[in-house]
Amino acid sequence: IGGVSDAKNLRVKLVLLGDSGVGKSCIVLRFVRGQFDPTSKVTVGASFLSQTIALQDSTTVKFEIWDTAGQERYAALAPLYYRGAAVSVIVYDITNPDSFNKAQYWVKELQKHGSPDIVMALVGNKADLQEQREVPIQDGVDFAEKNGMFFIETSAKTADNINQLFEHGVAHMKVLSC
Ligand code: GDP
Ligand code: MG
Repeated sequence: IGGVSDAKNLRVKLVLLGDSGVGKSCIVLRFVRGQFDPTSKVTVGASFLSQTIALQDSTTVKFEIWDTAGQERYAALAPLYYRGAAVSVIVYDITNPDSFNKAQYWVKELQKHGSPDIVMALVGNKADLQEQREVPIQDGVDFAEKNGMFFIETSAKTADNINQLFEHGVAHMKVLSC
C-alpha cells in the first residue's frame, strides 16, 4: 500500500477526511508551511501537497498529502483518495458534535472499503477553543481505542500537536510493517 521504503527514506501517502470546516486544510498548511490562515478557502474536490521530515533516527519521510473536501457532493470521490493510502487522518472539530459523528462514519467507511492495512488516526482539531468544547476528550479516546486508532487533539491555529500527529502516523505504520 502507499508506504514505500528504501532503507532510510519512506514515502507515505496520507489522506485527510472529515466534515467540511473542521480544519483539515489548516492542519496541512500548518504542517507544510508553518502557517495559519484564518481566511483559508473551502477546498474544492481535493488538493495535494507534500512535505518531507527527518525523524530522530535520521530516517526521512516524504508525506504525499491528499486534503479532501468534506462536502457531501464529493463523498463519492473519497475512495479515489483513501484507496492506496498508508495513513488516513480523520478529523473532527471538538466544538462540533456533528463533525464527531461524521468522523465515526468515515472510520466505518474505511473499515468496510479501505485497505485492511491502513493506519487510521482520529484527530480532534480546534483544541485551542476549550471554552466552546462540546466533544469531551474521553469520547475521542474511547472511540479511537475501540477501533484501534491513534488519537490526538490538535490546533492548527496554535500548532499544538500538529507535528506529533504526522510523526505518530509514521511510527504506527512502522510498527505495523515490522
Ligand atoms: P476544512 O474544510 O476541514 O479544510 O477546514 P479549513 O481548514 O478550511 O478550516 C475551516 C475554518 O476553521 C477556518 O475558518 C479556519 O480558520 C478554522 N480553523 C481551522 N483550524 C482551526 C484551529 O485549530 N483552531 C481554530 N480556532 N480555528 C481553526
Ligand atoms: Mg479544506
